[in-house]
Amino acid sequence: MKKLIIVTAIIMLVSCATVKQSAPPVEETSAGAAISNALTEAAEDQDYLILATLWFQKSAEMRALYYQCFRNAETALAENLAMQIRKMPIMDLPASENPMSGQGKPAAVVLDIDETLLDNSPFQGWQVLEKKEFNNDDWFRWVELAQAKSLPGAVEFTRYADSLGVEVFYVSNRTVQEMGPTIKNMAALGFANADSTHMLLKETTSSKVERRAQIEKEYEIILLVGDNLADISGVYEKRGSDYGFDAVDTDRLLFGIRYIVLPNPMYGNWLSELLKMTEGRTEKEKLLKLLETF
Ligand SMILES: [Mg+2]
Repeated sequence: MKKLIIVTAIIMLVSCATVKQSAPPVEETSAGAAISNALTEAAEDQDYLILATLWFQKSAEMRALYYQCFRNAETALAENLAMQIRKMPIMDLPASENPMSGQGKPAAVVLDIDETLLDNSPFQGWQVLEKKEFNNDDWFRWVELAQAKSLPGAVEFTRYADSLGVEVFYVSNRTVQEMGPTIKNMAALGFANADSTHMLLKETTSSKVERRAQIEKEYEIILLVGDNLADISGVYEKRGSDYGFDAVDTDRLLFGIRYIVLPNPMYGNWLSELLKMTEGRTEKEKLLKLLETF
């Protein structure tokens, strides 16, 4: 979550790039100096988060996108469930004679929590106002409040899945120590299966691959939903020099069908992986390095 600090920088840098294109040409050295000064100032506080957080909280487009994604998720879930039921083994046949043996597990949907179902943007806004970098103590205090609101369409989707008999699981990188207040928060909002049996939180690793595999021992995951591509496949945990674009292109037929991705401009693997290209640099140098990618 330290990534949060730098998040809006990308958007700010995009804005800078736009201004550069539309504004009258300026003398190169002064433009460079202006950008450098702006980045230096931005690197010293949490203003990076302003635009991303504002977009998340105040844009009607954001609400529309969440409704759109969860509507799409409902359609995909119902279709995938119908296909999965058709693959169910014929119960009268012994497993050894059944060509579909092993594929008859009950269906499950796997959802991320933060910025997929729960809105933590007030915490981001607080960071901006207080000019505080992300730290685990502040985050834990926010989680303990158990007052995060649900994102548009999220509660309804989990209840819809539950009504179809699809097992709803939450795989999140909130830590296991945060289980109690997370359940309290989500149960109060009306999320289906808001209990410790259906919540697989982070113990030692941020990778969700093993936790998904654990679910797959007993269930067939027919849909995955998250704001981070790593919520849906281990393939996306490392993005590489092409930012993961090739992997997404390869999986393009799965999006909207098996994978539902929600928008998060504030943080995510997209940013943390990008920043790996800048390891060993100061905050200011990192931003300048990222500027070179435009
Ligand atoms: Mg998330």
